[in-house]
Amino acid sequence: MNIPTVELEDEALKVHCPACGALICTPESCDPCPHVLFMYDDMVGDFHFIQPRLASVVDESKKAAQDEDFDALKVLIAVLDSPSMLCFGVTTTGMACVSISVTNYIGIEFDDRRLLDNERR
Ligand SMILES: [Zn+2]
Repeated sequence: MNIPTVELEDEALKVHCPACGALICTPESCDPCPHVLFMYDDMVGDFHFIQPRLASVVDESKKAAQDEDFDALKVLIAVLDSPSMLCFGVTTTGMACVSISVTNYIGIEFDDRRLLDNERR
């Protein structure tokens, strides 16, 4: 799985939704717009935001897999299988006592109809 990634210094972090332009991430907080399907933190190894309907999909897959190396991000992208979804990574490096590098993977659905379809399921 090859996900395009940009690298930013922590202070420069400002991510806008590519579908509607809403500011979704700053160094202080993340505020997902309706296009954001998930935000996955690779350091924690978990989603810090996921749409509720997708959380249940991940939970079910995790139970079925019973695997220590379960890769929730990979599974979710495979399950979504949406041609109008974009997943990208934002690596931020903070300059605290030690340099800490964290990558957040963000999934964006561009097709509003898909968002509505999925909500009806
Ligand atoms: Zn948006």
